[in-house]
Amino acid sequence: MYLYNIHTHNIGSREIEGYKFRYILNTFPDDFEKKSSENEDVWFSCGIHPWYIDDISRQISLLEEIASDERVVAIGEAGLDKMKGPDINIQIDVFRQQIELAVKVGKPLIIHCVKAWDELVALHKEYKTDIPWIIHGYRGNAQQAAQLGKIGFKFSFGEHFNEETLRSLPIESIFCETDTSEVTICKVYSSISDVLHIEINQFVEKIEYNIKKYIK
Ligand SMILES: [Zn+2]
Repeated sequence: MYLYNIHTHNIGSREIEGYKFRYILNTFPDDFEKKSSENEDVWFSCGIHPWYIDDISRQISLLEEIASDERVVAIGEAGLDKMKGPDINIQIDVFRQQIELAVKVGKPLIIHCVKAWDELVALHKEYKTDIPWIIHGYRGNAQQAAQLGKIGFKFSFGEHFNEETLRSLPIESIFCETDTSEVTICKVYSSISDVLHIEINQFVEKIEYNIKKYIK
């Protein structure tokens, strides 16, 4: 039985207390080659983070080469951030290209979104894709989550989250992650299963089901 960490920037232990971990290590087009050669037993996501948009056509063409690699199970993190990064219209343009690429290779999107929910929802409605759109590090309130969930978004929860939101969502729409935090994925699973009042092994099975259904 694996505990899946669907979004992390660091690989820690492979195993704790009898639980094995399966990581999706986040990479950027420029560090994918290095990170993928150093970590042979993990999965990867690769995307152009809105903070690091730079030479767009070069980043996109590199990402296009990487996206079909079988070790890459998701495109991202990619998305929109109104607090940091270039002008929102540039971010939208780069995100669009990544949505289209994810659709082309048939892989889920791992999304970074800060204060750009209207724009994100508009893109989701416009593209009407079959691929999962997973918002990572989700900390929004239950009302917002209900609106996003209703149109099909999935959510990944890390060290900090809104407990009411978590309890309000169907378990089929959630994933777990550590992102840049120092906590282990074991700790995230145990705090989420505590909030949901689900026995940890049962929770592990539910998340594994989601992984197989939506990611790989
Ligand atoms: Zn991240």
